Amino acid sequence: MGEALPFATHEVFIAGRWRDGASGERLPLLNPSDGSMLCEIARGNAADIDAAVAAAQAALDGEWGRLTAAERGRLLMVMGRAVLAQVDELARLEALDVGKPLKQGRADAVALARYLEFYGGAADKVMGETIPYLNGYTAFTWREPHGVTGHVVPWNYPMQIIGRSVGAALTMGNACVLKPAEEACLTALAIGRIAQQCGLPAGALNIVPGLGDEAGAALTAHPGVRHLSFTGSVATGRKVQAAAALNTVPVTLELGGKSPQLVFADADLDAALPFLVNAGIQNAGQTCSAGSRILVDRRIADEVVERLAQRYRTLRAGPALADLELGPLISKRQHQIVSRYLDLARAGGLSIAAKGEIVADAPVGGFYVRPTLVAAVPADHALAQEEIFGPVTVVTAFDDEADAVRIANGTPYGLVAGVWTRDGSRALRPARALKCGQVFINNYGAGGGSSCPSAALVLPATGERRASRRCTASRR
Ligand code: NAD
Repeated sequence: MGEALPFATHEVFIAGRWRDGASGERLPLLNPSDGSMLCEIARGNAADIDAAVAAAQAALDGEWGRLTAAERGRLLMVMGRAVLAQVDELARLEALDVGKPLKQGRADAVALARYLEFYGGAADKVMGETIPYLNGYTAFTWREPHGVTGHVVPWNYPMQIIGRSVGAALTMGNACVLKPAEEACLTALAIGRIAQQCGLPAGALNIVPGLGDEAGAALTAHPGVRHLSFTGSVATGRKVQAAAALNTVPVTLELGGKSPQLVFADADLDAALPFLVNAGIQNAGQTCSAGSRILVDRRIADEVVERLAQRYRTLRAGPALADLELGPLISKRQHQIVSRYLDLARAGGLSIAAKGEIVADAPVGGFYVRPTLVAAVPADHALAQEEIFGPVTVVTAFDDEADAVRIANGTPYGLVAGVWTRDGSRALRPARALKCGQVFINNYGAGGGSSCPSAALVLPATGERRASRRCTASRR
């Protein structure tokens, strides 16, 4: 536990107070950059979830529930400003906890602030409708909070995901119970402290770290929770959906992806290459919307692979605080999963076009893998079909536009896609045919597109590159 942390990490946050979890038990939190124990976190359990749901309900019945929409919005804005004032500290926490290079942690913190500002601004602009009805009747709708909302988030982008999930819920006047991931929850705890410092009424946001099948399952099954929001794996998403069904409450799921980037023969490769590479290695490939399948016109496939390979050979994975292109993977388990896919590639005789390096001074206990580009991967191969969640990008050639769309749509996923072409009509045709929530044209990016809906088409503005994000569509 060599790193100084700015607050006690082993507590739960319930009813505006930090305290030990009900069982007093704790879980170790590892630093993925060296495998050492960073700190301990509370092993929250069903009793903590009960207390958190009760605190949230009390907040709804009390001060929080009495605030006007404008007052709620102002509080979110204040929280957004507080986040911006702490960007470097939040980035450092994320680097230690997730293994994320500092620049990515900073980008996540700025995105969190932007979500809070965006939702804060929307607070008093969400309106009901008046409805033409029978003579003598006045029919209208009110937009109301669900009540207590449950939020289960993963370890890969805690700040962004909390920003859009909890941020949206708070702005509408819900009271939240947040269960961060057991692998990484320091920025979630930091957000609790920011909320407290900014005067968010007690109980409006409660945070219970713990294991998925304990605290997570208790939260998603709790009869006092009236809406669930879950981001994570497909397998867990199904369990959460089943739990929501048993309590007949609505659920928002944000699950996995195997997102394609279509590179047509007329693409501007100089512009595309940095995006083609970054979309696969950002956060060491542990990104739901990773653009990890590059589909390329067969006529330029060799050239594209060679140019990608040149870049891959320059990529370095190393400690998060060294702020290189990649940090480590989150855990030994994730390292094993990614290693198995690389073994599968070798065993299947796939062509490893290039690998980056792990820097020489990377601690041996860290969970590093070399970023890897695999060429000529058949579209039905496991490496082209399954979400690897590591820095492994596969390249598959296509014959024509119809073939490209068929391959792109040929996985069980449908999250994000990119289309690279100089031909405007060709850009829009496949974009419409792609079965996914968000399509980037001559661009690919996630992070901070708080104002984009889940299904969106994003084009770069003239003279600048606009990134957008909102990956909600998953598993059609
Ligand atoms: P995971 O499903 O194992 O865990 C996610 C969260 O769910 C954690 O907080 C965990 O504790 C909790 N959980 C686990 N079991 C639970 C249960 N039975 N009941 C309730 N909660 C439970 O996911 P992971 O492997 O940690 O995260 C990676 C996955 O998340 C990837 O598949 C990735 O694509 C996906 N993801 C998607 C998005 C998106 O926006 N679509 C964003 C980030 C990650």
